[in-house]
Amino acid sequence: MAKITLDNLAHSYSPNPKSEDDFALKELNHDWADGEAYALLGASGCGKSTLLNIISGLLIPSQGRVLFDDKDVTTAPTADRNIAQVFQFPVVYDTMTVRENLAFPLKNRGMDKAEITRLVQKVGAMIGMETELDRKARGLTADAKQKISLGRGMVREDVNALLFDEPLTVIDPHMKWELRTQLKKLHQDFGHTMIYVTHDQTEALTFADKVVVMHDGRVVQIGTPQELFERPAHTFVGYFIGSPGMNLFDAQIDGAKARVGQTHVDLGAAYAAHGKTQIGVRPEFIRMNVGGDGLPATIRRIEDVGRHRIVRLDVDGRAISAIANEDDAISSDTDRITFDPAGINVYADDWRIEPSERVAQ
Ligand code: ADP
Ligand code: MG
Repeated sequence: MAKITLDNLAHSYSPNPKSEDDFALKELNHDWADGEAYALLGASGCGKSTLLNIISGLLIPSQGRVLFDDKDVTTAPTADRNIAQVFQFPVVYDTMTVRENLAFPLKNRGMDKAEITRLVQKVGAMIGMETELDRKARGLTADAKQKISLGRGMVREDVNALLFDEPLTVIDPHMKWELRTQLKKLHQDFGHTMIYVTHDQTEALTFADKVVVMHDGRVVQIGTPQELFERPAHTFVGYFIGSPGMNLFDAQIDGAKARVGQTHVDLGAAYAAHGKTQIGVRPEFIRMNVGGDGLPATIRRIEDVGRHRIVRLDVDGRAISAIANEDDAISSDTDRITFDPAGINVYADDWRIEPSERVAQ
């Protein structure tokens, strides 16, 4: 296992990049701590695979260095990095049995037979294929083949890091949860450095201790699920994480007050904000009222999603979402919304800013 350092890293697929837009991966400095489980989360095309392939050595970055435990491996071939990588689509040897496929990376490294048998048996059970070990891979479903690919990644106990690139895409939904649980258990048992790429927030938040959120070639936040929820560092994180995501309101910030349209909003703390200023409020922190202070709002629709209800509102022509608990009464006369100050984040040019001073409530 290793600590992985990205030093001044950036990548452009174009041979002569002219501007930042030509970079699939914008400049990045980051340490992946030894033994930590990370999820790398972002929408399709934001640069996740590019980053993973640079770490594994499939791609040489156009700028910067990759270090494993402080050793420069930037141009080292994949085979010398001692990592396991699992891709979105299966990579298996069709003519081999499931057992031979799982044993392959171990045989390659000259491990003794009894140890191979033990590990293959164990991983065969983890991927739910213990009764199919002697079947040829050819003829198996894509789903089963992908489980073999996962197993081949999981079978080696001595790797520097385990990299997963959207590995559950072709897996049956029922099996996804089971396999994710197995991967988590593998991490608990062996403490590998793991990076798990996904575009699915539920997958990311349930798998990892730390989530790295990417947007448009940039890492916009690294944090625990709770930090991403409570203090989204970038408006994209607010919008991408949570269901529904954070509501954003254009606002003029004046100390501890914001003006949204004609309405004054108490921020609970003073801010010095410049540029394009907005306040972000998650649906959980919106209160619905009849009369009184607050932003004029009209209820459009109420969706019952079991644990709570999602209320879709119209606020000055914009769609806003609020969450109401099962036992909260929602009046059809609702015509105002207010915000719980503890749930307000202030953004300047899309980046969250810290309050300059707290205001006593
Ligand atoms: P993700 O894995 O998050 O979906 P990728 O890392 O695959 O994103 O892609 C990031 C960006 O780089 C995208 O705009 C994609 O079109 C571009 N890209 C990816 N691979 C190549 C390539 N081999 N050549 C040129 N552009 C590429
Ligand atoms: Mg990808």
